[in-house]
Amino acid sequence: MNSCHQRFPIEDFRKLRFRIFTIGYVSEGESVLGVIDDGDRHLYSFVIDSYQIGDENDSAFNGTLEKIRELGISSIDAFIWTHPDTDHSVGIQKLLSEADSEARAKIFLPAMLSKELDMTDEARAGMDYLFEHYNKGKKYNMSMVVKNPSVTHCDHKLTFEERRSGRKITAEFYFLAPCGARLLRNTCANQCFGLNRLSIMFALRINYFDYLFCGDLMGDDVQFLDKDFLKNVSFVKIPHHGSSHTRQLPQLMKMQKVADSIATTTTFSKCNLPEEEIIRIYQSLCGNVYSTSEGSHKYGCIETDFNIRDLSCNVILSGNAKAYV
Ligand SMILES: [Zn+2]
Repeated sequence: MNSCHQRFPIEDFRKLRFRIFTIGYVSEGESVLGVIDDGDRHLYSFVIDSYQIGDENDSAFNGTLEKIRELGISSIDAFIWTHPDTDHSVGIQKLLSEADSEARAKIFLPAMLSKELDMTDEARAGMDYLFEHYNKGKKYNMSMVVKNPSVTHCDHKLTFEERRSGRKITAEFYFLAPCGARLLRNTCANQCFGLNRLSIMFALRINYFDYLFCGDLMGDDVQFLDKDFLKNVSFVKIPHHGSSHTRQLPQLMKMQKVADSIATTTTFSKCNLPEEEIIRIYQSLCGNVYSTSEGSHKYGCIETDFNIRDLSCNVILSGNAKAYV
């Protein structure tokens, strides 16, 4: 994978913050918007997955796009598509044609994503859009994410340099899943596997603290994660909507003595997710747990604003989002 390094001169570290918007719709569908800013300017933004409600592209409602407009972000810097399950894959074309109209963003896709996979028309349309706009002519803005268990290296790096002091703070993307060896074994054995097995999980390590975005990583795939990334955790986007198939992750975090982090998840009502038991486990580990839920609004948004230097966090819930107490 091509590594990439971007540098940002800034005035004052004290104002540097990382805002995470966990967006979930009424019955299913999620997307996450991440924005690093210095209080005045947006420095870097990325979107994980896409979902929208409504039939036609023009009348469809895309909460991520609403937020991007509201924040005045002219174009996003990266799009990470964790896996092609429908609840993560609707409206990719609309999202990117507006939020990255010149197709300059860096795209991260799970390795093994191919036309042969059994996916819905929406997901297929999203995949076609990405290959058509980001893999055309001499342009190749796509990275196929795969992780080999023995090495975790930084795949994408941002450096913020404070002008007056010359000090630096880095933000690094480390992709932790999917595990290449595991995928290869499944494919070679011609095993039929669910699309969740492809799911990307990554850590954004800012100033030595990790923000974990777990996609729909499930089951014993967790055993291949680099444990180094489960220690200084500030934030965890709970994998697979808090299903009981994911309890291995909080168990591992407990062994690594994670405390005082913030956890968010989204609802997936067909399967009654998130599960109460999993929420309780995260509560014992993290203290503060938030979820979107069913309700009268079109969607819910959990905004977690971290001050990068002192790790204080301001939480703003809107629409169908709620806190567990
Ligand atoms: Zn999902």
